[in-house]
Amino acid sequence: MIDTVPTVSVDRGKIPLSEKIYLGPIVTGLKVTFRHFRRNLIGQKDVATIQWPEEKRPYSERVRGRHILTTREDGSLRCVACFMCETACPAQCIHIEAEENPGAPVDHEKRPKVYEIDLLRCIFCGFCVDACPEEAIIMSRTHEMAFACRDEAVVGIEELRQKGPLDVEELGYRPYF
Ligand code: SF4
Ligand code: SF4
Repeated sequence: MIDTVPTVSVDRGKIPLSEKIYLGPIVTGLKVTFRHFRRNLIGQKDVATIQWPEEKRPYSERVRGRHILTTREDGSLRCVACFMCETACPAQCIHIEAEENPGAPVDHEKRPKVYEIDLLRCIFCGFCVDACPEEAIIMSRTHEMAFACRDEAVVGIEELRQKGPLDVEELGYRPYF
């Protein structure tokens, strides 16, 4: 047989009218808001926000931004279409289709016919960079990405391909770094 639980009465005391209508806390909250508003408007001191995009914060050299597919000296992609990055990707946002690479040495006899990343699904974890045995995919420091529609967010080989010599100031997370 289950014992009945005794009822406990809690005396909350008398709540004053000012507390019942939350007047005090509202005034206190508004005072804080207006203090910050006045300080930001006039003083511009100790302000937590910055005037982006004119001002930029310094980012870590290991920041994980938009991907780059690196190229060899002859301009061909270093990617050998091994699917390691696609397999490692926890967001399943990499899509690769491989093709033969005619005339290439045996260690890169395949190349990607299609290499796409859905940047709206990507969580910028860098696992693809870690998984790549060829240092064929690295990350830049570009993290400002705006798309007008979903299709624009799915970037292919031409958008991802390394454009000229790599500027170390522009690079983010990459192997052994
Ligand atoms: S950064 Fe992470 S989520 Fe984005 S493509 Fe690479 S493995 Fe996938
Ligand atoms: S980017 Fe690297 S891991 Fe991904 S398919 Fe190409 S070679 Fe393999």
